[in-house]
Amino acid sequence: MIQLYIPLNFLGVLYREIKQSLADMEKLFSLMDQNKEIADKDNAPALKLDPHRSPEVRFQMVNFNYEENRQILFDVDFTIAAGTTTAVVGHSGSGKSTLSRLLFRFYDIRSGQIAIDGQNIMDVTQHSLRQAIGIVPQDTVLFNDTIAYNIAYGKPGATQEEVIAVAKAAYIHEFIESLPEGYETMVGERGLKLSGGEKQRVAIARTLLKNPSMLIFDEATSALDSKSEQLIQAQLKQIAKSRTSLVIAHRLSTIVDAAQILVMDKGRIIERGTHQELIAAAGAYAQMWERQQHGGVQDEAESGIGLAQ
Ligand code: ADP
Ligand code: MG
Repeated sequence: MIQLYIPLNFLGVLYREIKQSLADMEKLFSLMDQNKEIADKDNAPALKLDPHRSPEVRFQMVNFNYEENRQILFDVDFTIAAGTTTAVVGHSGSGKSTLSRLLFRFYDIRSGQIAIDGQNIMDVTQHSLRQAIGIVPQDTVLFNDTIAYNIAYGKPGATQEEVIAVAKAAYIHEFIESLPEGYETMVGERGLKLSGGEKQRVAIARTLLKNPSMLIFDEATSALDSKSEQLIQAQLKQIAKSRTSLVIAHRLSTIVDAAQILVMDKGRIIERGTHQELIAAAGAYAQMWERQQHGGVQDEAESGIGLAQ
């Protein structure tokens, strides 16, 4: 019995370990699962990008559904001019995040085309496509590993100096240094829990390290404290400067400078223009703007009128 007991106990520990890592793997697979029907064409070339400027992104009459009988996007058509920012606003469920998933090719569209510098994203390798796009998501998933690892994830093989440089640029270096084990501190579900703002700064550091020519930023809905919010907005402006960017925005005040704003409603673009143009048009955007000036985003989200999710 004793002889059996030890290995079983050992197995018990091992089992828990495996179960934990399965939980992580599950997360990974659920992400990959979305990709299972997405395959590279035979001999697909890599996405070709001009090293001197960010590319133009074009959605051409895009129709899309996740499930058979429920169309999500209808004839979505817009161009993000090279190196500029296009912001997307609209009610929860209107299809904003779907646009970013499609640009990343987590799903294939039903009809139309998505092209980067004239290359259909279905014709190039997924690896080269995803290499070229940095995402700062609504809710950053941290791996159960060190904070250094979580930042370096943006660029496999990054040196410690590089990791520290981007952490400084993302204004998270000082915070990391204040942790008991600094860059070696374990984070994620099993380690130190970071706040929403801290996680977003990790994502920004990751993205800086990746140095992509296109950027997707899905603005967090949960209100960060206003100091973090301002810092993050300032950083993003910096990162987005010369990059082709798609910004999903909840606080309209953060996107007044965007070259183009798209207003989505039930899977269609119902208005487009600059902030000034849309205010002058006195339509849906102008109404949202008016409401946010008075109520703020949280109130809107709670009343169901707002731009939650
Ligand atoms: P938004 O970001 O504007 O809030 P989304 O793009 O996330 O909206 O979602 C648009 C619509 O697609 C919603 O009705 C949502 O329920 C649906 N949807 C999102 N993801 C999936 C999915 N994986 N499977 C099925 N339907 C989905
Ligand atoms: Mg969303």
